[in-house]
Amino acid sequence: QSDEAWREVDAYFADTLVPEDRALREARESGGLTTMPQAEVAPNQGKLLAMLCRIAGAARVLEFGTLAGYSTVWLARAVGDGGHVTSLELEERNAGIARENLRRAGVADRVDVIVGPAADSARRLIEEGGEPYDFVFIDADKPGNPAYLAASLELTQPGSVIVIDNVVRNGAVTDPASPDERVQGVRRVLADIAHDARLEATALQTVGSKGWDGFVVIRRSR
Ligand code: SAM
Repeated sequence: QSDEAWREVDAYFADTLVPEDRALREARESGGLTTMPQAEVAPNQGKLLAMLCRIAGAARVLEFGTLAGYSTVWLARAVGDGGHVTSLELEERNAGIARENLRRAGVADRVDVIVGPAADSARRLIEEGGEPYDFVFIDADKPGNPAYLAASLELTQPGSVIVIDNVVRNGAVTDPASPDERVQGVRRVLADIAHDARLEATALQTVGSKGWDGFVVIRRSR
């Protein structure tokens, strides 16, 4: 099947099941103003993140990679009034666009966007020793995945859920000799998950408006 058919089915699912209000639509469209246009999750994926949060009963969410805050809006709405989202973003430009989108979506009061390399920001969060996070979405630079998983394990608790995006990379993930650092970042984090007895996980391939990709869902059991 073609990319065109995948896109049509995604559009049909989104039209049928995933209505976006104006704030979500504008957040998605403003991705074009960021340093990485089109890199946000698709609407049906954003809603999946929100539903996983709700199913897990998550009140505190950590996100690696904010971009324009499209996924952040989904997550912030999922945690509800009493919840909180911390989102880590390298680029000040993207963080500014995201903050504006979060304000328009009515969730600015429950989200902190922290600017800087996510590994540094996460280290500071660990040092601060705040309440553990219930749900983590890892979606920043892919070579950083192993470090982001390690930090997430310092910042979560048994029962927490961790989702890692973009683990298929058009099928390149199966190539152990890939020279692409992003592929190696995915392969390393998958190996780390497999060798960590605290973690149960599965990975799914997806096709759709974002092409051929996929994600890992992890539950921390202890
Ligand atoms: N989660 C967003 C969404 O679905 O709407 C998309 C995030 S986009 C795929 C990746 C983001 O990670 C970009 O905004 C990029 O600037 C950011 N990023 C890249 N390297 C980073 C780093 N070292 N630390 C923090 N953020 C980083």
